[in-house]
Amino acid sequence: MTSLALPVFTPVYPHHKVVIIGGGPAGSVAASRLAQKGIDALVLEREKFPRFHIGESLLPNGNHVLKTIGVWDKITSAGFIEKRGAQFTLADRSRTVRNVFAQGWIPGLDMTYQVERARFDDILLRHAQQSGAQVQEESRVTRVSRTSGHWRIEAEHQGQTATFTADWVIDASGRHCVMGRAMKMEKSPLPYPGRMAVFNHFEHVVRDRGEAAGDIIVMRLSDAWFWAIPISPTVTSVGVVLQKNSGRHTGESWESLFWRKVNESPFLSNAMAHATAVGEYRIESDYSFSHTDFGRDRCLLAGDAASFIDPVFSSGVYLALESGLLAADEIADALTSPKSARAEAKLYARYTNAMKNRIGYMRQLIDAYYDDEACEVFMSPRPTLRLPQAINSILAGGLTPSFAVRWRLWLFKQICALQKRRVLVPKINWQSPSESTPEK
Ligand SMILES: Cc1cc2nc3c(=O)[nH]c(=O)nc-3n(C[C@H](O)[C@H](O)[C@H](O)COP(=O)(O)OP(=O)(O)OC[C@H]3O[C@@H](n4cnc5c(N)ncnc54)[C@H](O)[C@@H]3O)c2cc1C
Repeated sequence: MTSLALPVFTPVYPHHKVVIIGGGPAGSVAASRLAQKGIDALVLEREKFPRFHIGESLLPNGNHVLKTIGVWDKITSAGFIEKRGAQFTLADRSRTVRNVFAQGWIPGLDMTYQVERARFDDILLRHAQQSGAQVQEESRVTRVSRTSGHWRIEAEHQGQTATFTADWVIDASGRHCVMGRAMKMEKSPLPYPGRMAVFNHFEHVVRDRGEAAGDIIVMRLSDAWFWAIPISPTVTSVGVVLQKNSGRHTGESWESLFWRKVNESPFLSNAMAHATAVGEYRIESDYSFSHTDFGRDRCLLAGDAASFIDPVFSSGVYLALESGLLAADEIADALTSPKSARAEAKLYARYTNAMKNRIGYMRQLIDAYYDDEACEVFMSPRPTLRLPQAINSILAGGLTPSFAVRWRLWLFKQICALQKRRVLVPKINWQSPSESTPEK
């Protein structure tokens, strides 16, 4: 008699109100929120957690999402490094701007954490489970289709395929954008060159002392920038971001490219003189993209699956958390009070606009950072008209700014534009940053 292999992967409830693809920050927040509202939600996650992920510096405004879903106490007791500021500096540290969150415009956005993402994401995913969501790890979604008003989702688990159906889907699969691809959702062109990041974790990187020891340090070179993020008492995440086609010599390894750029900075080469790598050198490339709409046909795109612009101001996880919460709330509302097709269309537009507006404010500062003259203005803050506080609040993730912040951001951009024609703040010689010309 032939023995039959029993299926290892037997879904408990084949039909779910909501299936969430991906258990990163966006997916875990959405799952927690839905479960807490009594809505049956299943997370299908490709990996087994904890797993490595880049994106370790949080923004203070993400704290409110973590508090809303009730995971804040678990985060505060996890021993992550407190982040109270962000430093923007030059290769020789001749100019440094320390953005202290407590001095920002919005009260309460004083601090957050630098996190090892493997642990942070694991805490969030377990919290979703503890909140009542079902979580299936090592379950890669391979196909999706829409049949008779439902989503049909196929996932592979240890060589077996299981099929689920759902009323709604949240695509939180990060830059894999499972649903965006399957639905061939339109992407908006972005005016950015292809960029890439090379990074690793290191022991023995020299840090600042005191409260500033937990800062992220963002250091600009003429054609690249570095991050240094303390993610444990001894380990620092260091990465370099550069244009894809301009950075690498023929045959050069990622490791030697990384160290060649480190050695272009007197400050960083000193700080890393005794650094030892604790992992492999990894790369990420061509990461900037945005879907035009973040929702359609009872599917919402959350976090990176909707859009990812640039890592320079550490906004990715914040936007993922916020969009996970918003997506869950929109879907919970639609499930409890069913909507006409017209009202559903409004839901997609409302959700898309809510997220695109937030991304748009951050993008204005991202664009300034990559522009030499605008970066000179950014690196020379003046107390005039409380401009630095306004910029500070955006950098803390205050991305639904009041009019008071919005007009200051507008003024900042006008000063940046003027700097191209007149020297309003000291110029930076980007090839050799120490040679700043005096202010006129
Ligand atoms: C170089 C670089 C540096 C960055 N630095 C920062 C930073 O300092 N701070 C910051 O806030 N952000 C940073 N980011 C951005 C940050 O990494 C992301 O914005 C954030 O992780 C997005 O979260 P998410 O939940 O949307 O997606 P993810 O965290 O990517 O999670 C998606 C999940 O979906 C799963 N998945 C994928 N495909 C499937 C599938 N087919 N089936 C099932 N599951 C699937 C994946 O395994 C993953 O667990 C950085 C990004 C880059 C590229």
